[in-house]
Amino acid sequence: MKKNNFLITKKEKEVVISILKKVSKKNIISLNLINFTFLSKILNKEEKNFLKKIRQINPRQYGFKGKYLGIQRIPKNLTIIKNQKYKYNGKQKNINKKYIPNEVFLFYKKMNKSMYKDINKKLLVSGCYRSPACQLFLFLYYLNKNNFNFKKTMKRVAFPGYSEHGYPTKQAIDFMTIDGVPDTDDKLKFEKTIEYKWLLKNASNFNFFLSYPKNNKLGIMFEPWHWHFNKNKIL
Ligand SMILES: [Zn+2]
Repeated sequence: MKKNNFLITKKEKEVVISILKKVSKKNIISLNLINFTFLSKILNKEEKNFLKKIRQINPRQYGFKGKYLGIQRIPKNLTIIKNQKYKYNGKQKNINKKYIPNEVFLFYKKMNKSMYKDINKKLLVSGCYRSPACQLFLFLYYLNKNNFNFKKTMKRVAFPGYSEHGYPTKQAIDFMTIDGVPDTDDKLKFEKTIEYKWLLKNASNFNFFLSYPKNNKLGIMFEPWHWHFNKNKIL
């Protein structure tokens, strides 16, 4: 039987907000690399039980049709990308440290070089590797932002174990132009950029593929900025 939505009690909403507060308060080097042990250390029993309940959910019951990729270990071969800058509303902004599997980083650099040669543009990495625990945190963050509408949140952010951001074999990158597109207010603006048009034509030469095209059958919104790496894909 298909459930329409997952109902969260008032008490559970408070638990979510308390988890979000606790994790954000901790002075951690990068949220992208947190693990479940870290979460269980800082959370109380009630919060841990709630996370357990959430993790048992099968997202397919809520319209998500993507593949289960599994909960992978945090890889060791990660390159750190630092000091990325972009312009937003005339102001210079910095992107926090991002983590990218070494091989994917090499292909990303090659692709950027080629793009620069062709259209005088470059892409920044606004999101890349995220641990499954980080993905869970992100899910709760958007759940709260979306007024605890579970179905809506499922469309916006993948569940731990279902995200290409936590799957180094087909590592996903969220791209951003050096002009700060897409920003958080209008994500679809990326579709209008010449960088996106260039990607559509050329990204596959560098083993990058668009994961969630328009009207995809995966129950995920169109994400023109989200591309995954796949060295073994046959065209
Ligand atoms: Zn993404």
